[in-house]
Amino acid sequence: MNKQTGESVISDENSRAALWPVLTKIDADLAEQALIQGCGHCGGALHRADYPRKVRGVRAESRRHSFCCAREECRRRETPGSVRFLGRKVYAGFIVVVLTALRHGLSTERVRVLQEQLGVDRRTLERWRRWWLEQFARSGFWRVARARLVPPVDAATLPWSLWVRFTGEGNAPLLGLLRFLSPWSTRRPPG
Ligand SMILES: [Zn+2]
Repeated sequence: MNKQTGESVISDENSRAALWPVLTKIDADLAEQALIQGCGHCGGALHRADYPRKVRGVRAESRRHSFCCAREECRRRETPGSVRFLGRKVYAGFIVVVLTALRHGLSTERVRVLQEQLGVDRRTLERWRRWWLEQFARSGFWRVARARLVPPVDAATLPWSLWVRFTGEGNAPLLGLLRFLSPWSTRRPPG
């Protein structure tokens, strides 16, 4: 991955808009897999219970894939992983990932320009940064994943240090990273 790709994908509205259908397709596949697996609690069949979800940073309508167990006595909600969202954050997940990553790859001034273009204030960016250092870096999910990464990934520069481990052309590294992070937007995040 290189920082130019990252910068262009979030700074330019057309690039952001172009990425969204790609992510939407991946989410549809993740939802399809969840549907096939059935209810994680009782194994019952799932019914669709999608709901509209606001997304900032991309001009698009979006619906979050979600399911509800068909069994009367269970009725649990199953929310599959997503590459479009990251937990409860209102900005599109890739914007959260790329903007926080670029804090370690670009000058402070360039990051400030990107923030302004996206309407992300300083406090929000600080909150995202804390999320990486506190929730993410201290999670069981990361402890397990980190052990498989050689050489070790520097937790202090997440998610930049993780992103550079994904290879490929164009947006492939970013898509790889978003897939890796997709469990974080389930109803029971892997924290
Ligand atoms: Zn069930």
